Amino acid sequence: MEATTQATAPASTATLTDGAHYLVEALIKNGVDKMYGVVGIPVTDFARIAQAKGIRYIGMRHEADAGNAAAAQGFLTGRPGVFLTVSAPGFLNGLAPLKEATENGWPVIMISGESSRDTVDLMEGQYEGLDQRAYAVPFAKAAYRIDNMEDIPLGVARAIRAACSGRPGGVYLSMPDTMIGQTMDAAAAEAALYAVNNPAPAMIPDQASVDQALKLLSEAKNPLIFLGKGAAYAQCDDLIAEFVHKTGIPYQPMSMAKGLIPDDDPQCTASCRGLAMRTADVVLMVGARLNWMLNFGKGRHWNKDVKFIQIDIDPTEIDNSRYIECPVVGDIKSTMQLFVDGLSKYDIHASQEWTSMLDADKAKNNARFGAKTAEETTPLNHYNALGAVKKVMDKNHDVILVNEGANTLDDCRDIVDMYLPRHRLDCGTWGVMGIGTGYAIGAAVTTGKSVLSIHGDSAFGFDGMEVETACRFNLPITFMVLNNGGIYRGDFEDLGASGDPSPLTLDATAHYEKMIEAFGGTGYFATTMDEVESMLTEALASKKPCFINVQLSVHAGVESGHISNLNPIPVVGPLSDSECEDLNEEVVDGKLVQEPASK
Ligand code: ADP
Ligand code: MG
Repeated sequence: MEATTQATAPASTATLTDGAHYLVEALIKNGVDKMYGVVGIPVTDFARIAQAKGIRYIGMRHEADAGNAAAAQGFLTGRPGVFLTVSAPGFLNGLAPLKEATENGWPVIMISGESSRDTVDLMEGQYEGLDQRAYAVPFAKAAYRIDNMEDIPLGVARAIRAACSGRPGGVYLSMPDTMIGQTMDAAAAEAALYAVNNPAPAMIPDQASVDQALKLLSEAKNPLIFLGKGAAYAQCDDLIAEFVHKTGIPYQPMSMAKGLIPDDDPQCTASCRGLAMRTADVVLMVGARLNWMLNFGKGRHWNKDVKFIQIDIDPTEIDNSRYIECPVVGDIKSTMQLFVDGLSKYDIHASQEWTSMLDADKAKNNARFGAKTAEETTPLNHYNALGAVKKVMDKNHDVILVNEGANTLDDCRDIVDMYLPRHRLDCGTWGVMGIGTGYAIGAAVTTGKSVLSIHGDSAFGFDGMEVETACRFNLPITFMVLNNGGIYRGDFEDLGASGDPSPLTLDATAHYEKMIEAFGGTGYFATTMDEVESMLTEALASKKPCFINVQLSVHAGVESGHISNLNPIPVVGPLSDSECEDLNEEVVDGKLVQEPASK
């Protein structure tokens, strides 16, 4: 390979800086103090320099996990999390979390080394040669390449601004090896550095749209508020709580908005969500999208005459899946301030008739659900195992909960209450498996708080190696696997003649907790509700890496959790009708019962 170092304006070698040092300086100038990644050619020295200059560098085992850790940091702080990959294969591994962060609307910057452009562009067969920026474009909110080191301050500014302004997202920043090796005068470089000025500016909505929204709410009989993860991200928790409490309007937290207002608030509709959706006449969406999770805002799940008010920072989100009566385009903080200010002009409240109806439904559902979570079975199932987890979390409000799986996700979201904002991270907008250990590491590193990371046994398999990272950095993370021995559950049979496990089957008797023991962490094996409770209490108190493997019944769980309706049913399928029906039922205590409606 040709020498690629180009000295642009060297005065003397003593006063030169290079691309790697300069990029580190530019990141530090912009407040970047942490980086997650996996090193190798051509970024190894870049990571060493970053560490030497004071950036906390978290070396991980897979780029996707590093990307997820950075994404968690972005969600929790509102500033872009940064992760680092090597060229082509490492870069490709990073694209999935980059796209997932973009779907979630979380600010992330992925920095990748890239092999020499001249040989890549002529397709000469370069080591890990790939036109990475072009490949990143469809997966990122924006993708940039810095070819000349003089442009580093500009490139970093472009990346930060794109990541966190408007609807946040994932940004790709390419660092060709040729650029890493460039040099320039150190004093000139230093003088050209700058910090981005106000990277996520307020976007104040049109006052007329605010008035229209408040008027519509004042005319509603059955108003309902949806809080999404955009509302959690906006970090104006007190303003949102003030509006909810002053109006008395029932509110539904989306998964990652749980705890924005404590889940035990009497206005929370989590346990009467279906009824609230079917009967609300005016719905105020605060940083939540009318996507698949909310049946696109139409159909039998919603009152057919419902009117929507939607607060969103992204104007193109309005009318995304249905007509929106009242768009309010602006940032949530500025908008909620105007909403609170406007309460002196409008009389807004929910009708007594409606809140009483919701309360009655809540009482009924809570009684039914409470019984399921309190009833001991041998072996355990998702409900009682998570009932035991709830007891511990009710005494540890400041623990961050990471949650992935199918039944493990759905049931945990329903059972385990959250009390503080931005304390729950999960599979998100795309319903992704394999995000958990990365999120847990990002959350622990970012906040220093204890993290409980609850995984289904299948979900854990995607990224389980990161328990080693948690041990190496001695992070206060308790991993928990609810092992029912399979994707969805563990009692599916081989339908062919091979004698092989079914496509869904995993090891129901695996001792996952032994994985962490290999790296010096503490493992626990729980088979009863009391053990789950006492082991989790002890593990969290230790503030050290721990792992609790919870043995569930292989019959616990339903196919695809609460979203089995998304499975296409083959016209000529491998299963008979009666076999298909069985898959949507659940075995509890040896009896088949229908899965309750989504809570
Ligand atoms: P959930 O899945 O919890 O319903 P979504 O991710 O679907 O939440 O929706 C979040 C919405 O919040 C996105 O449409 C995004 O554009 C919006 N959003 C994010 N941050 C802000 C903000 N600061 N102000 C206004 N809207 C925001
Ligand atoms: Mg499972």
